[in-house]
Amino acid sequence: MTIAISGASGQLGRIAIENLKTRVDAEQIVALARDTAKVADLGVEARAFDYTRAENLAAALDGVDVLALISSSDFENRVGQHENVINAAKSAGVGRVIYTSILKADQSPLIIAQDHKATEEILKASGLGYTMLRNPWYVENWTASLPIAVEQGAMIGATGGAAATPATRQDLGEALAAVAASDGHENKTYELGADTPVTLHDMAAVLSRAAGKTIHYNDLPQETYAGILASLGIPEGFATVIADAEAGVPQGWLSDESGALSRLIGRPTTSLDDAVTTALKG
Ligand code: NDP
Repeated sequence: MTIAISGASGQLGRIAIENLKTRVDAEQIVALARDTAKVADLGVEARAFDYTRAENLAAALDGVDVLALISSSDFENRVGQHENVINAAKSAGVGRVIYTSILKADQSPLIIAQDHKATEEILKASGLGYTMLRNPWYVENWTASLPIAVEQGAMIGATGGAAATPATRQDLGEALAAVAASDGHENKTYELGADTPVTLHDMAAVLSRAAGKTIHYNDLPQETYAGILASLGIPEGFATVIADAEAGVPQGWLSDESGALSRLIGRPTTSLDDAVTTALKG
């Protein structure tokens, strides 16, 4: 069986391939990337794969049985990019496509969910076997700014202080590798929240202990938060999307307590303490 992972040069893709190597022979793995030089160190076959180059994609999927389509980080016609990949998978005779989606994609009103909802619909309509991995918010979306929070003595966000179930890329990459390497996931949809709901107040408390000083979480109105993110250099459209996602936390759009993630990876999900410690190590 040949398993290909697209977006292999990205953070999630790299983790998934490293974990997949512990589950199947490296000869069975294909890393698909826009720039194959970026994945040369992974020690698996690399093939060029740009979602916007529809004409090249089917040939790159020759002999592939299972394809993990990692959602594009390029928001320019993102659904069209994913559709190119799905069409190519169909013409290449791929057996199953795994797609990295977002929690509750079919119902979520969050801006971030709309491309995922459309892609899931295209994938289901294609008639290909599928596995939807509905990822939560990456915990790293929150922990990346913790070193700055330590400097400034405060964290900011727009979650209303409510709980969500963000997971680490490591846990989610392992789950991806698990569903790629094993049977029984055909036409299944997994909601992949971490085991324990956490708030940004919880994170501030853990951070305070780790840093040895008090760091408060300041909850801001959505627009104020988006404005601050933009002023820090995040592109305005993306700042709006992040603030919109956090504003959906009190309604539960970034929460899932199904336990599917820990079941897939065969261990408890990474704790908040460990995620914070890792972030502070840099
Ligand atoms: P990264 O930004 O680290 O990686 C994104 C990957 O997408 C890279 O390999 C990039 O390739 C690839 N890519 C971008 N455009 C194309 C294209 N046209 N054709 C082929 N590949 C392309 O993201 P992560 O690995 O951390 O996350 C994976 C995906 O998850 C993201 O792309 C995004 O869709 C989504 N995401 C989810 C979040 C969440 O909280 N759930 C948060 C952030 C992102 P290259 O190296 O060439 O740039």
